[in-house]
Amino acid sequence: MRIELVNTGDELLLGDTINTNAAWLGQQVAALGLMVSRHLVVSDGAVIKDAISEAASRSDVVLVSGGLGPTNDDLTRESMAELLGLPLELDEGIKAHLEDFFARRNRVMSASNLKQAMVPRGALVLDNPFGTAPGLYFPAELGCARGWNTHFFLLPGPPRELKPMMEAHVEPRLRSLLPDGASRAIRYFKITGLGESDIVERVEKKLEAVPGLTLGYCIRQGDVDVRLSGQPEPVAAGEAIVREHLGEHIVSTDRRLIEQVVVHALAERGQWLATAESCTGGFLTSRITDVSGSSGVFGHGFITYANEAKQKHLGVPAALLAEHGAVSEPVCRAMAEGALAASGADHALALTGVAGPTGGSDDKPVGTVFVGLASRGAETAVRKFFYPGTRDRFKLLASQAALDMLRRRLSGLPMG
Ligand code: ATP
Ligand code: MG
Repeated sequence: MRIELVNTGDELLLGDTINTNAAWLGQQVAALGLMVSRHLVVSDGAVIKDAISEAASRSDVVLVSGGLGPTNDDLTRESMAELLGLPLELDEGIKAHLEDFFARRNRVMSASNLKQAMVPRGALVLDNPFGTAPGLYFPAELGCARGWNTHFFLLPGPPRELKPMMEAHVEPRLRSLLPDGASRAIRYFKITGLGESDIVERVEKKLEAVPGLTLGYCIRQGDVDVRLSGQPEPVAAGEAIVREHLGEHIVSTDRRLIEQVVVHALAERGQWLATAESCTGGFLTSRITDVSGSSGVFGHGFITYANEAKQKHLGVPAALLAEHGAVSEPVCRAMAEGALAASGADHALALTGVAGPTGGSDDKPVGTVFVGLASRGAETAVRKFFYPGTRDRFKLLASQAALDMLRRRLSGLPMG
């Protein structure tokens, strides 16, 4: 099945808005085991007509985003009606929805909004609970007079409106359009603690030897997504290889981030986490609290940047700081154990390191970081890592290492 995207909006061409709809729609389509074959970004206004007919001439499905709003340059609906030769008719249901939408917000509806209640005859209305512009679905038979055999979906531009509509109304229809034999499978593995070259070395040759298996990577700082797609059988064979050779480095297979995996695992166990951060200045805590539901597992974060703060809030002995320095295994251990005691949590993560660019020494060069994990009823673990580079990258990788240590402890894996 060939799918193309058409995104409209001057702001996308000017670079004022990043075309996140294209990226997100690409992922949603990939999750169905398909792939978007092209996307086209065009200006607001009449050019949308050319873009849609060009895409229609070579596709089974065209997804269009933007230009369903009330203003003069919002012409997607009208362009589709013209292309397919369909009259626009007032839809009383949409009109009522619009009136209700404005009444609830104590706003007066302007006449221009009524254009959003016009529906090309034969098109199906896709509800938009989060905005005024409903989406529209044009089944392929509406375009047969033009010699097309193409399904069209018109979606609103704002991502908070487009996403729920795609999930609720478009994906089920796309699934039902898939011919039975073409049920491609797709699997994602989020891998951490290994670089791209390590992953390539461990699995690439073996995966390439599986006939019919397509392999893809998405490399980020801190983790790598390995994507396997194809018919279910080769994908299952590929999955076995990934599990055998990357096993304990697999963070998730459902695209969850490591902070989500850790927060969910703590919630399942009813356990609490505390943090004690020096060099990362709260970045680890910020990642944890990015996860919805973190208030059920996280209560205390200590940002102890100065030595006095490490002593006062975490009880790190002054003598230990004097003897080993703040960036050291014993101080990291004392920070983790101090945070555990002060918070009453079940686990405490601690970080102390040299982010740079200044402050490094021969035995503790810029990029050195100690990560500690103290847990009730387990031995405290402290590991040393080395992440030279920018402060941003240092914070990201150090917090990633901390989350991975906790993930490993919660999964009963060795500390790595
Ligand atoms: P509106 O009623 O707001 O005009 P619309 O359906 O006409 O809705 P657009 O005018 O295309 O949609 O876009 C509205 C908003 O959505 C703009 O702020 C725009 O920046 C954002 N937007 C549009 N397209 C995209 C996209 N591809 N990726 C991310 N944001 C987008
Ligand atoms: Mg608009």
